[in-house]
Amino acid sequence: MKIHFVGAGPGDKELITLKGYKLLSEADVVIYAGSLVNPEILDYCKEGCEIHNSAYMNLGEIIDVMEKGVKEGKCVVRLQTGDFSIYGSIREQVEELAKRGIGYTCTPGVSSFLGASSALGVEYTVPEISQSLIITRMEGRTPVPPKESIESFATHQTSMVIFLSVQEIDKVVKRLIDGGYSETTPIAVVYKATWKNQKIVKGTLKDIVPKVKEEGINKTALIMVGNFLGEEYNYSKLYDKDFKHEYRK
Ligand code: SAH
Repeated sequence: MKIHFVGAGPGDKELITLKGYKLLSEADVVIYAGSLVNPEILDYCKEGCEIHNSAYMNLGEIIDVMEKGVKEGKCVVRLQTGDFSIYGSIREQVEELAKRGIGYTCTPGVSSFLGASSALGVEYTVPEISQSLIITRMEGRTPVPPKESIESFATHQTSMVIFLSVQEIDKVVKRLIDGGYSETTPIAVVYKATWKNQKIVKGTLKDIVPKVKEEGINKTALIMVGNFLGEEYNYSKLYDKDFKHEYRK
């Protein structure tokens, strides 16, 4: 028996993959990240499924529940918010499982940065405006390597999504400007993307801070910044009628 890591998606209970849904509906034991996973998604669990909220557990306790389940021949699902490869603390879990000789499978989820771009209906990679996306966070209790400072990424002036930092939006904005973004750069804050109580706040680096404070947003939000949110755009070559390629001569 293996542990099944499943990405729950950003919130909307229908944004889990079919594969993730199947695993969840067959699970005997589910450990879910209660601080962020929409509990409605647990409606997919079968009757009698044993449910643990990892918000109240430490790493050792999580691994103990996994090990016990596997030893009893049960189907164990570890349900993580968004996708586990982004700030998912999956590495430490799989290392601990390895020590106990337990294998695992991974079923990806829709990360919240994708839920947020869908909420806004935007493309991160607008031709000639930006062709790269930086996913980062500001340091909090978890440090960030010094080479990955907000200022240093801001020098690229490409699309950025900043996780886990909205509680210090004023500091983030200051550091983006210090790094070289102009005050007119568009920025958006998406709170609980794809949830029923989703909120979207749009502005520029100059005026976003009071807007976010007014809405009382201080957690579960993403900061999106860059000219991909602006009025300027270009059409892609891919669908240009004069652009020939492998499939369209
Ligand atoms: N693995 C998750 C991220 C976990 S870190 C993913 O792929 O999305 C937790 C942070 O993610 C939160 O502090 C917030 O910045 C962001 N987040 C998670 N769900 C969100 C949502 N629905 N809307 C906006 N931000 C979200």
